Amino acid sequence: MTMAVLRAVSLRPYTTLRAGGAAERFAVAGDVEQLARAAAAAHGIGDRLTVLGWGSNVLPADAGVPGFVVHNRARRIEVGDDGHVVADTGCGFQELFLKTAQAGLAGLEFAVGIPGTLGGALVSNAGAYRSNVSEFLTELEVVLEGRRMWTGPEIMHFSYRDSVLRRNEPPALTLLRVRFRLPKGRGKAIYDEAREYQRQRISKQPPPASAGSFFKNVADPILAMRLPRLPEALKTAGVVPAGFLIQDAELAGLRHKGAMFSRRHANFIVNTGGATATAIRELAELGARAVFERYGVRLEEEVLYIGDWSAYGSS
Ligand SMILES: Cc1cc2nc3c(=O)[nH]c(=O)nc-3n(C[C@H](O)[C@H](O)[C@H](O)COP(=O)(O)OP(=O)(O)OC[C@H]3O[C@@H](n4cnc5c(N)ncnc54)[C@H](O)[C@@H]3O)c2cc1C
Repeated sequence: MTMAVLRAVSLRPYTTLRAGGAAERFAVAGDVEQLARAAAAAHGIGDRLTVLGWGSNVLPADAGVPGFVVHNRARRIEVGDDGHVVADTGCGFQELFLKTAQAGLAGLEFAVGIPGTLGGALVSNAGAYRSNVSEFLTELEVVLEGRRMWTGPEIMHFSYRDSVLRRNEPPALTLLRVRFRLPKGRGKAIYDEAREYQRQRISKQPPPASAGSFFKNVADPILAMRLPRLPEALKTAGVVPAGFLIQDAELAGLRHKGAMFSRRHANFIVNTGGATATAIRELAELGARAVFERYGVRLEEEVLYIGDWSAYGSS
């Protein structure tokens, strides 16, 4: 089936921050074949292709996203008896956990509460509680510069909340399907662990609309030792949560044109209603500046600014 391509589609409903402008061209890929064809066609003519999953880690510019935006709804998951899993990148990350847990496979418990697709999780090497999605990955099916192929995980250059697809000038690389190998676990233990993660999240996470943690945590043992209020375990690990710095700098609850640093989890910026993407970014930068002035550390965004931000800061 061919995909219907629409023009000037607002991306606001497609992002969990409920902000941002329109896609120049927009289509929904219902399966991997459609996603692969769209990617090959776009790469072939040097068109800009943005794949959007659940939009839970992006902030599209108010000026919009030029080129072709494809919303990925390819969501097949096949689980083999031997721990091998093949999943489309448009499947929900939590759904992937549930399907694999039902088959007695462990490893993805941390995915509970991460509201996005497998594709989005790969791009940011999503994780929680010291686990990352890249750990169990064996192969990826991709379209790279117009060519469809299976390849090894090295192509992604994974590191903490990072991959090649987050860096400047990324290659034309679209993620289609993934092969995992997961260890066998004990049913009850898998669910107990997932339930505990879920419980911790519910107590910490503010209600929508947000994109989860806005900034990455900071690995800096010297800074960690200098912060008297930082819990001992984090001092030992040499990690300073971005939320700790924002809270400590007394920014929690700070509002700017409808955007706000959450009081419940200071590293979440929430759209309290009607905030533009520009306002959200301005608040983020204001917070990052305040943290830099106080602690000398530059916070790095976990949320991705996508689209045409060239007019940002000029008015
Ligand atoms: C309440 C809340 C809690 C969260 N908690 C966590 C957490 O604990 N840990 C964590 O790591 N993240 C967390 N997040 C952030 C987010 O959910 C994850 O990063 C998620 O994996 C993003 O998936 P997505 O489908 O929404 O990606 P999107 O936001 O749709 O896309 C993210 C990026 O990936 C690219 N992309 C997506 N799919 C593909 C593909 N198939 N091929 C190529 N590029 C692609 C997009 O173009 C974009 O650049 C949280 C978010 C929220 C709202």
